[in-house]
Amino acid sequence: MTDQTYDYDVLVIGSGPGGYVAAIRAGQLGLKTACVESRETLGGTCLNVGCIPSKAMLHASEFYDAAANGTMAKMGVEVTPKLNLPVMHDQRKDAVKQLTDGIAFLFKKNKVDWIKGRATFTDAHSVTVAGKTVTAKNIVIATGSSVTPLPGVEVDNESQVVVDSTGALELASVPKHMVVIGGGVIGLELGSVWRRLGATVTCVEFLDQILPGFDADIRKEANRIFKKQGFDFKLGTKVTKVAVKGKTATLTMEPAKGGASETIEADCVLVSIGRRPNTDGLALDKAGLKTNERGQIEIDHEFRTAVDGVWAIGDVVPGPMLAHKAEDEGIAVAENIAGQTGIVNHDVIPSVVYTWPEIAGVGLTEEQAIEKLGDKAKVKVGKFPMLGNSRAKTNHEPDGSVKIIADADTDRVLGVWAIASVAGTMIAEAALAMEFGATSEDIAYTCHAHPTHSEAIKEAAMAVQGKPIHI
Ligand code: FAD
Ligand code: NAD
Repeated sequence: MTDQTYDYDVLVIGSGPGGYVAAIRAGQLGLKTACVESRETLGGTCLNVGCIPSKAMLHASEFYDAAANGTMAKMGVEVTPKLNLPVMHDQRKDAVKQLTDGIAFLFKKNKVDWIKGRATFTDAHSVTVAGKTVTAKNIVIATGSSVTPLPGVEVDNESQVVVDSTGALELASVPKHMVVIGGGVIGLELGSVWRRLGATVTCVEFLDQILPGFDADIRKEANRIFKKQGFDFKLGTKVTKVAVKGKTATLTMEPAKGGASETIEADCVLVSIGRRPNTDGLALDKAGLKTNERGQIEIDHEFRTAVDGVWAIGDVVPGPMLAHKAEDEGIAVAENIAGQTGIVNHDVIPSVVYTWPEIAGVGLTEEQAIEKLGDKAKVKVGKFPMLGNSRAKTNHEPDGSVKIIADADTDRVLGVWAIASVAGTMIAEAALAMEFGATSEDIAYTCHAHPTHSEAIKEAAMAVQGKPIHI
């Protein structure tokens, strides 16, 4: 029953995977719910300009690459691929449209009102949207994140010379030389798309290795694989200036620790140095809220902010900026608002890079495990190369490995890391095992179907005991 003082029981600001899922679950729980979205379509960054369109381009370009690089020929299928980029873009746009329309359908089905416009707080229980005031007993901030700008570098997605991830999804032609600034997830995924379609790709990374946050062995192995594919890496290097003249960008770079600068030219530069929370224009102060030093809204374990009745989830709060993390928080916050117990286990959030092969991980890296347990001897590691996996070998997918990190005393699995063509699918098993507190022995003695890539997880678990079969 709606509290008569308010228009809604729950008002969600933002319809990304955090916001739309929170709104749907609130509707399912019988709460009178609305969701405000400033974009034309629902689904947030993820569906409109993030997870979905990037995967559409990654999937399509994988086919082109397999035809062009000889992988198909190795299996007796000889074709000379011809790129039809407009069609590739159309299938991307079609996937986005179908999925964003799908959210509108789900809103109707679950009686969630879609309020179009930008929400600004007037107090903790009310916002203005398109000149109208809307009140709610509970307001969930799910405003997501945007591209972090690089000082001195101006992104212009229209001219397609210096672009961010949104611009890099829309390029009208394949660049000759693309420079990716930032060797994180976006740089490697979108750099892979354009490299497969014919661009030479240079990746400039500030740190001394790509993919911060991933296990060190996996980072090194991924770097080797990407180099073999043709990526050129400039590690430990920072871009200090990008000057654009016509269709050419000249980048000035220098070693991150100082030293002589050098320049390179490119016809496309992708700025992918991270994302930052969206709170501009929300007037958080009117609700009595402020952000932390990283621009995030702090929350407690139940997703409550410091102000009663105001909740926050997704990219705008601390934690990894991932769609599935935002979705789980969306479900949990709605359940908490309804008086139930909504929980997210932030120790078991898988992370996947959708390159070829895929790179995935969940839980602690070996370095984090050693730090947490205080001694290298307290950590046991089992590794298994995909070369020893019959399915990967048969499919001509020799690259990659699985690594399982376990507590040496209890054998409990602390982290699992994998590089494999289907690592993103394989990692779900590891997350489930960790959620149930599995030991490496539990995984080793679980029957895995043959021949599957997942057998490499079982073998890595057996390797924790020093007894893998196929290596
Ligand atoms: P968002 O999805 O950012 O949605 C927030 C919404 O709020 C936006 O639509 C915005 O318009 C709206 N909004 C903001 N302020 C207001 C306001 N004041 N009033 C009204 N509306 C407002 N993650 C993965 O897990 N897997 C992937 O494969 C993946 N790929 C990605 C690829 C790219 C290129 C990018 C950029 C990101 C990718 N991500 C991926 C990250 C993922 O998109 C985000 O973690 C996820 O979208 C965060 O969800 P959210 O609901 O917190 O916010
Ligand atoms: P990121 O944090 O993954 O990587 C940014 C990289 O840029 C880091 O390696 C950092 O060291 C480097 N960097 C920072 N400043 C630099 C500079 N001045 N010069 C050179 N390098 C610099 O960020 P991203 O790739 O932009 O992605 C943003 C977010 O979106 C991530 O948090 C990620 O979780 C999410 N995302 C997820 C997926 C996925 O799950 N598959 C895909 C895309 C994006």
